Amino acid sequence: MGPEYCKGGLDTNEKFHFILCEFLLTCINQNWKIPIAYYFIKGINAEEKKNLLLNCISAVHQYNIKVVAVTFDGLKTNFRMACLLGANFNINSFQTWFHLPNTSDKIFIFLDPSHLIKIIRNVFEKKGMMNAMDNIISWQYIKELHLLQEQEGLHIANKLRSIHVNFFKQKMKVRLAAQTLSKSVTDAMQFCNTLKLPQFEGCDATIYFIHIMYAKLNECFKYICNLKESRHGKLLINSPKKAGFLGFCISIKSLMGLYDMLCEEPNSSLQYIIQINNIALYCDKNSQIITRFSRSIVSYIAGFVVHFLTKKINCTQCVEALTELQPNFDHHDLISIKNKGGLLYPSKDVIFICEICEKCIRLAIMESNSPVLPPKYNVHFFLTKILSYFIENHTIFSKLNKHTLEQIGIDNHIIHLIRAIATKI
Ligand SMILES: [Zn+2]
Repeated sequence: MGPEYCKGGLDTNEKFHFILCEFLLTCINQNWKIPIAYYFIKGINAEEKKNLLLNCISAVHQYNIKVVAVTFDGLKTNFRMACLLGANFNINSFQTWFHLPNTSDKIFIFLDPSHLIKIIRNVFEKKGMMNAMDNIISWQYIKELHLLQEQEGLHIANKLRSIHVNFFKQKMKVRLAAQTLSKSVTDAMQFCNTLKLPQFEGCDATIYFIHIMYAKLNECFKYICNLKESRHGKLLINSPKKAGFLGFCISIKSLMGLYDMLCEEPNSSLQYIIQINNIALYCDKNSQIITRFSRSIVSYIAGFVVHFLTKKINCTQCVEALTELQPNFDHHDLISIKNKGGLLYPSKDVIFICEICEKCIRLAIMESNSPVLPPKYNVHFFLTKILSYFIENHTIFSKLNKHTLEQIGIDNHIIHLIRAIATKI
């Protein structure tokens, strides 16, 4: 939940400029958000903002809606409002939550990550910074990478273009900041560094600075806390340019606190808080758990997949890996009931792949908020997700490990099987 601001004019003479301060309520275990209040304001101080926010939270509490977090952007009055509510942003006594008066429930504070990434990009471009080891973090390397790619007429698998380097007229576009501070840009810089190109000498600290955005939360928090303006300058989180850096530290601590509160509690309704592209996504436990009931059905469908594939695949060893001779009650209960003699018992590996496919589809339905998936969720999308999952999971079809040693990498039968099963299901 949090306020959003838009600018507008009340009449054509523009005598009465105002700002619309709107409060949106966003559900964290379902996919909806609704505006619940808006105020036309000519300016507002931290105390007034605090009162408006508390009014909104108290109002929704009356309808048994529990507010667990508030989100706003990195304006100075927003930081002050959070402190008036009871938060403490002094790093030695850090507290990123507050209580609603007369309740014991914690409400965590988040700063809008898409706003923060733009502020950080701007400081990076304008002033640069220094890490705890006194290594310089410089925008110059971004410019050098862009220049090199333009000169060579080739891009090292990244989206960096003139518009990313000269972003000043499009400062508000989150996409440009996110594509600049991206892993593909650090990979390209790393590549230039290994070629020992002189203009990339000393770029390690800059690579690490961008890389840290995608690192573990604790590691990222510690790193940001130690960034400095210059060798003898202030820590960035205490400097006038602190908003983006302090904002990320606040959001990291709040995400961890919220996870403990929502996911670690006994009887919690949520199991995951996943961070994708700096945007927190909350997964309903029910959408990710394959119940015994669902497992039986998935296993039954897996039987048809196996029936189809055994006719198409010529390799005897691979066909053997798809099936089990005897039914196992845990996996094959529905098949055993339905079987009149012609059904096959899919192996545990096939069932597991089918379950992962099922989970991917459920997640996509939840993300898109529609039972009919939009075109971007095509077979290619799911295949990429599923194959990348199993590339990290080496235990699948482990009985075929010896068999695959006989094959060249590009013709790996395990990969062929995963692809065939995922495509068919
Ligand atoms: Zn084979």
